[in-house]
Amino acid sequence: MTMVDFKELSGKPVAEKIMAENLTRAEKLKAAGHTPTLALFRVGERPDDIFYERSILRHCERAGVNVRQTLLPAEAPEQKLAGLLTAAADDKTVDAIFFFSPLPKAYNEPALRELIPAAKDVDCLTRASAAALFCGEGSGFAPCTPAAVMAMLAHYEVPLAGRRAVVLGRSLVVGKPLAMLLLAADATVTICHSKTHDLPAVCREADILLAAVGRPRLVQGDFLAPGQVVIDVGVNDDPANPGKMCGDVNYAAAQKICAAATPAPGGVGLVTTAILCQHIIEASEQNAK
Ligand code: NAP
Repeated sequence: MTMVDFKELSGKPVAEKIMAENLTRAEKLKAAGHTPTLALFRVGERPDDIFYERSILRHCERAGVNVRQTLLPAEAPEQKLAGLLTAAADDKTVDAIFFFSPLPKAYNEPALRELIPAAKDVDCLTRASAAALFCGEGSGFAPCTPAAVMAMLAHYEVPLAGRRAVVLGRSLVVGKPLAMLLLAADATVTICHSKTHDLPAVCREADILLAAVGRPRLVQGDFLAPGQVVIDVGVNDDPANPGKMCGDVNYAAAQKICAAATPAPGGVGLVTTAILCQHIIEASEQNAK
């Protein structure tokens, strides 16, 4: 395998396609008298939240989604957010509800999540949405990042049925739900974590290797094998380039060894917010019925 055979799986065309579809669907809703509306809550001033919030506002504006934004100081009482979430839950003109997680440590976040009705839970914050994903009970949206990974795999026509997918990471935000989505697509799934023995050997067996560990370039050449498709979910501060971001995978090594890989940044991260918009519009279509 030479670098000539390598394909970069950029997030840009995937995000552009989803956003074009989002716009068409939002216009149809508006023509029928229903403006897709997101109630967005941020507590405190965490830089990661502010960065993601800017991306959400930009994408929603492009897609024609109305955003009702609420900003609370980190020291705001939990009851304040609880009251606002309950009001948004009861408000028929609000299609979707999202808050940045984690909330301040003093808050009872699990209880606050449950104030969101499953139909408005566009990022799988509630138990009902998780049950839909993990048990196939009821309905609910998958979390946006794993859904973005699946959209990337579909866009680049990566076959999954019967193939070996190795997921690095078992968080409830990325690793576990991603494993469930891959399983639902008939992949044979292995989930790895910090206690996995001989991680490089397990990873080398993958047809599709998906890294969501939050460790800059943990995945080096000895984790990779020819023919693999590598999906890098990692968003990390790059220790080698202060002020820059990097993924969980050594992309240069993937270019030399693998069939295809997502760059990071420039891969999955670009698709996540487009998927959030897609979920908002889907919730809106259901609400407008
Ligand atoms: P997390 O909650 O910290 O979970 C990390 C997982 O990786 C854990 O399961 C942990 O294992 C495992 N892990 C850590 N070090 C490891 C090692 N040396 N070997 C094997 N496994 C190891 O992180 P997360 O929220 O899932 O996020 C993962 C990455 O995705 C981060 O870089 C984050 O910034 C990124 N992310 C990207 C997006 C996006 O839209 N692109 C969205 C969300 C997150 P244990 O369970 O054993 O501790």
